[in-house]
Amino acid sequence: MSELAPELLAILRCPRCLGILEPEPDGMRCDACHLRYPVRDGIPLLLLSDATATQDAGDAAGA
Ligand SMILES: [Zn+2]
Repeated sequence: MSELAPELLAILRCPRCLGILEPEPDGMRCDACHLRYPVRDGIPLLLLSDATATQDAGDAAGA
């Protein structure tokens, strides 16, 4: 049950930039701010405190 419903994906937005999230095998990724949000038990945890940087997102820690 790791798949998220398409209708859910359609309304989910990055809490930081309100950008569209890209689904990943075990998380949701925002390409705009290079953050990755975990999905736990099929529930996306769209919290900045739980987000991790997907790559060298220079200012992610200081924002
Ligand atoms: Zn974002």
